[in-house]
Amino acid sequence: MRTHTASADAGTAARTGAPPRRRPRSAVVPLAALLAVVLLAACGKSGTPPPKGPKPKDLPSYQVATDVNLDSPTFRSAKSRGKLVVGTKADQPYVAAQDPATGYYSGFDVEIAKMMAASLGFGVDRIEFKTITSANRETSLQNGEVDYYVGTYTINDNRKKLVGFAGPYYIAGQALLVRKDDKSINGPQDLAGKKVCSVAGSTPYQRIVANYPKATAVAYDSYSVCVDNLISLQVDAVTTDDTILKGYAAKVPDQLRLAGEPFSKEPYGIGVPRGDRTFRLALDDAIVAHEQNGDWKRAYDSTLGLSGVPAPPPPPVDRY
Ligand code: GLU
Repeated sequence: MRTHTASADAGTAARTGAPPRRRPRSAVVPLAALLAVVLLAACGKSGTPPPKGPKPKDLPSYQVATDVNLDSPTFRSAKSRGKLVVGTKADQPYVAAQDPATGYYSGFDVEIAKMMAASLGFGVDRIEFKTITSANRETSLQNGEVDYYVGTYTINDNRKKLVGFAGPYYIAGQALLVRKDDKSINGPQDLAGKKVCSVAGSTPYQRIVANYPKATAVAYDSYSVCVDNLISLQVDAVTTDDTILKGYAAKVPDQLRLAGEPFSKEPYGIGVPRGDRTFRLALDDAIVAHEQNGDWKRAYDSTLGLSGVPAPPPPPVDRY
């Protein structure tokens, strides 16, 4: 277990947005492999195959803008580099996940990242995705490691002191994932004396520590480690956004369930370098344009929508 002071991204792996052919060297592979073992086990038990993730051929494609010019340092450096570098997650099914065999990233947030790139004039073959954990998002934007970040990133005032946010483009809510046979947890009020796993630097972890002091909060770098620990009885619950937990529950529905209702609002934003207002407002415009032309809904339906919840209306963008 690591505490929330951890760590460099051991799992950082860079890949373009186009389906690649090479094997990644990413440290997320063992976690994904572990999940695959769980899936196989679940599959054998119930006799039903696990739900399918988004297939590249089922995903929408986005019209790439031409002649884009922005008075933005972030945009200019991406232009001269010839590609965008986009931070995201690698182990959140339906939201942002990396296929361990191909290195291909998929999920709703990955689609949002591609829409933004298209509006900036970059096709999927000119996006390099980088896996960045929750705790390292702000630093990666501050030191220019990524041009923007799309990965279940809640907009809040503390983070706004460090980075800028376009959006929101979706509103999630903190929830709880438990073992299916454990009937003792049905909401955050039942967490006293329980071991609750989350990720360092995340708002759900901070909320448990601040508002539910009778729970024992443990933090790792990624939610998939928490899920492994839940299945192997080392923790009693995993807490983070419902979007993320639904993806894990859908993978092993005979072992895991969401307990109770969401108990926070997590407005998802696209993280950008704080001083680059032009870039932030360009992404706000891009979000609205892709909501209006139907791309947002098509992307939702082919990714997060696979977990069974119909697309909500997108939230209004907050141009600050
Ligand atoms: N949305 C929450 C956050 O930004 C939890 C998900 C995550 O860790 O990415 O902290």
